Amino acid sequence: MKAITWHGKQDVRLADVPDPAIVNPHDAIVRVTTTAICGSDLHLYNGFIPAMKPGDVLGHEFMGEVVSTGPACEKVKIGDRVVVMCSIACGRCWFCKKQEFSACDNTNPSASSVAVEVAYGHAGAGIFGYSHLYGGYAGGQAQYVRVPFADVGCLAVPPELTDEQALFLGDIFPTGYMAAENCNIEPGDTVAVFGAGPVGQFAMKSAMLLGAERVIAIDSVPARLKLAADQGAIVIDELHGDVLRRLDDLTGGRGPDACIDAVGLEAHGRGIQNAYDRMKQALRLESDRPMALRSAIMAVRKGGTVSIPGVYGGFVDKFPMGAAFGKGLTMKMGQTKFHKYAPTLLARVQAREVDPSFVITHRVGLDDLPAAYRMFNNKEDGCIKVIAHLT
Ligand SMILES: [Zn+2]
Ligand SMILES: [Zn+2]
Repeated sequence: MKAITWHGKQDVRLADVPDPAIVNPHDAIVRVTTTAICGSDLHLYNGFIPAMKPGDVLGHEFMGEVVSTGPACEKVKIGDRVVVMCSIACGRCWFCKKQEFSACDNTNPSASSVAVEVAYGHAGAGIFGYSHLYGGYAGGQAQYVRVPFADVGCLAVPPELTDEQALFLGDIFPTGYMAAENCNIEPGDTVAVFGAGPVGQFAMKSAMLLGAERVIAIDSVPARLKLAADQGAIVIDELHGDVLRRLDDLTGGRGPDACIDAVGLEAHGRGIQNAYDRMKQALRLESDRPMALRSAIMAVRKGGTVSIPGVYGGFVDKFPMGAAFGKGLTMKMGQTKFHKYAPTLLARVQAREVDPSFVITHRVGLDDLPAAYRMFNNKEDGCIKVIAHLT
């Protein structure tokens, strides 16, 4: 079959790889009909996540048709049209029973490795197409994919919804939603979202659904700011003026009630601190550049919440702990509990409260994905979200 494979920094290729097969009785094989490039795939593309091996199949946002099932599958059936949760959960362990699916104890065989223990203490669940730190599972930017614990990870898609309306239930919609829910939004609240990429856009949409009075988007990419404004957000272009001062001005000097860091480890931006971070990153003294996180902590009001859906992979420097303590902040973060949120969000999509396809800017074929990675990485052509339809 054809698949998109990783070969090194900024080197992804369309390749012929062996078809996946049922390995475990709980597996299913899904023929992919639509897949996408996630912002977090760019962390792999740019070589920020260790433990990738040449030839690894990428992709954790995908949906399609079940074409084969293992003997222990009870729910999923051949012919089902499903969207697959991007992290893999067994549904039976101590964590899964508490609905802490992203902490599943049974799906990340890398969890006991020394590297993972040193980096994380306890590792989370496996993730499709996301390095050997997360189990080394082949991803869904491919014609077929093996889905472990398919009864738990597959969500049936009703026929009235298109692939484009359902695809994002496997990752970025629940991620944006949990980020907003973590803000404990109350009537009258102002929520500032750093990073207006796809997850940031879903965080904004979700903050509005959850009753935020005002949502403020901070980014520097014109297409992203325009999409945020189209959603009804107030926008701040971080290239023009001081972001923290603008946020103070908009909130009577108090600061937003909650700030969401939808940027994560690879933050760009200007300033001497960032140059210093980049140097330390190059020397492997620091792995992540927490520019947006620092700004979120400094901007948020006293007693406010900082919610972090942006992915971090290792260590950060110059974390403003004094500000976080002095302001009495609540901070919430982590891999999304996709399995918990996706069914209720599917109901919202069915009720026409939201059409998740609003973030899509580019539609290509599987063969075009290597070029699309480049375009997405360089934010060319107004690119916010690329999906690939497979025929
Ligand atoms: Zn993702
Ligand atoms: Zn589990």
